[in-house]
Amino acid sequence: NTILLNDQFIDREQSSVNIEDRGYQFGDGVYEVIRIYSGKMFTGKEHITRLFESAEKIQLTLPFTEDELTENLYKLVEKNKLDTGIIYLQVTRGVSPRQHQFPLDGKAVFTAYTKEVARPEAQMNEGVTAIVADDVRWLRCDIKSLNLLGNLLAKQEAFSQGSFEAILHRDGTVTEGSSSNVFIIKNNTLYTHPATNLILNGITRREILRLCPGIGLEVKEESFTLDELYEADEVFVASTTAEIMPVIKVGAKAVGSSKPGEWSKKLQETFKASIQEQCGE
Ligand code: PLP
Repeated sequence: NTILLNDQFIDREQSSVNIEDRGYQFGDGVYEVIRIYSGKMFTGKEHITRLFESAEKIQLTLPFTEDELTENLYKLVEKNKLDTGIIYLQVTRGVSPRQHQFPLDGKAVFTAYTKEVARPEAQMNEGVTAIVADDVRWLRCDIKSLNLLGNLLAKQEAFSQGSFEAILHRDGTVTEGSSSNVFIIKNNTLYTHPATNLILNGITRREILRLCPGIGLEVKEESFTLDELYEADEVFVASTTAEIMPVIKVGAKAVGSSKPGEWSKKLQETFKASIQEQCGE
């Protein structure tokens, strides 16, 4: 199994982390997760562009261009003969004696590896449950940062209650999931929180918004409340690995008829067609 370290392909067993890497000590870095279907990146350009944007937002300069990175990621997928799975990629501010301020001579450390991950078909067909949790994170959730403790605590709470996801809210306004964006459908209109500093503008989210007009689903990028979440006709969460995941119960409250809704299913079909179009399954 091969990993990518900066621009070098090395054996996974040969890789190690420096104890003073700022990613390891501070979570000082950014990351991406890219889906691979049939050996091809799905919305790869969007993910790679977002990595560069996240890096710029934390004043981190990447030591390669988007094209160079794309080429190396494809080589990595080929070397590992990955068909269906993900590439995880991250970049940290590198190694320096521990101090909060940025090092003057810092050198970014980039790593990427692949993993086989099947499409979660059973859960997508049957739907999953979610809890709600207070969004206690910072105010730059638009950055795909390695600092994920707020997300982890919420996901752990969901997991300990046997749920798939924690739907986060600030003072009763739904923001996003612990590792997904959140959507509701009410009266044939799709609602999702606008792409502000309070959410990560998911690539899956963007793909969904792009596909809605084609199936005649009206879109409103407007925030909604917990009450509106509970009263929704349909609820789903979306992410690179979970795709479009219907939520059939929020806390103790059933969503609609406790089955994936018609619009959600239609979006899943359209999304699958988009995968086929881009990756030619
Ligand atoms: N929001 C958060 C907090 C996430 O961690 C993720 C993905 O992991 C998303 C949204 C969905 O983003 P994407 O569709 O780009 O995977």
